[in-house]
Amino acid sequence: MKPKKKDIRSLTKEQLRKFFVENGDKAFRGNQVFEWLWSKSLHTFEAMTNISKDTREMLEENFVINHIEVDSMQRSKDGTIKNGIRLHDGFIVESVLIPTEKRTTACVSSQVGCSLDCRFCATSRLKRMRNLNPDEIYDQVVAIDKQSKLYHNRKLSNIVFMGMGEPLMNYNNVIKSIDKITSPEGLGMSSKRITVSTSGVPKIIKKMADDEVKFNLAVSLHSAIDSVRTSIMPFNETFPLKDLGDSLVYWFEKTQRVVTYEYIVWDGINDKKEDIKALINFCKLIPCKVNLIEYNPIDDGEFQQANSRVIDNYISNLEMHDIVVNVRRSRGKDIDAACGQLANKS
Ligand code: SAH
Repeated sequence: MKPKKKDIRSLTKEQLRKFFVENGDKAFRGNQVFEWLWSKSLHTFEAMTNISKDTREMLEENFVINHIEVDSMQRSKDGTIKNGIRLHDGFIVESVLIPTEKRTTACVSSQVGCSLDCRFCATSRLKRMRNLNPDEIYDQVVAIDKQSKLYHNRKLSNIVFMGMGEPLMNYNNVIKSIDKITSPEGLGMSSKRITVSTSGVPKIIKKMADDEVKFNLAVSLHSAIDSVRTSIMPFNETFPLKDLGDSLVYWFEKTQRVVTYEYIVWDGINDKKEDIKALINFCKLIPCKVNLIEYNPIDDGEFQQANSRVIDNYISNLEMHDIVVNVRRSRGKDIDAACGQLANKS
């Protein structure tokens, strides 16, 4: 049996240059091929027009170019597009294009399924099958950038890691994908326009601070009381709020970057005075802002968003303590493309 061919995009530029030298060609050829693979996003060797036929055939014999395929596409009334993305081994993940007046945001997945168990999130019902490779994350961004140009006449402006999966449980690949997204040899986007959202893995938050990452950090908090948080996000038992808080203090000391807390207010779960008080105390740890997000029901009806009076109460109390608070409306609800609704339904 022939050995399985290697995915050429798992090679760094240096490795690619070395490959050409070892095969009697110039190192520079590696740069040319690298450019076709990343900034030009080609999926076949045949289309690499400045590479000789012999070289292309030699590449074909040694490598494959694994790539994603947009398998299905649904468009919402509000312009949101949900893509079912087929990976080279047949797994499906979802990525969403979210247009607003001024920007187009790509919401990308980082894992097939999710390793966490947030009880209000549809993705948590899917077992984590595997991590996405850097190129699979990068390709989602490229695909949405194309759709943004096609349907909205403008380039993609922002990226959020809020699709399927927990990005900090696939940290190395997420970082590699962001390197390509921000590199001039990839998409050349600014890391200021990228937000990584996590349920909060303290050890990795500290590592990110040590690595001096330049993108934004959002934490899905939902409660600042351990017993409540554990009841809705059971992994909080392993990563309690004290550890999360410590890691965020460390993050701020190292990076001086404000953290966004994502927070949903549910009826009977976190709608009491002490919930608000705990959130205010947690917010005092470091400079931050709070995004109150609208709950998108997943079918079992167990969770219900609190009424507007409770939410107004949250807002006025946070503001009284000079905490910046935004209310985030959901997009793409009619096609199950909103936060927490990604579950490969179609
Ligand atoms: N694992 C990461 C990223 C994926 S979830 C994280 O936890 O941050 C992206 C955001 O959607 C998180 O803030 C999450 O709490 C939120 N979310 C999950 N289910 C939701 C739902 N049903 N309605 C609204 N937001 C939800």
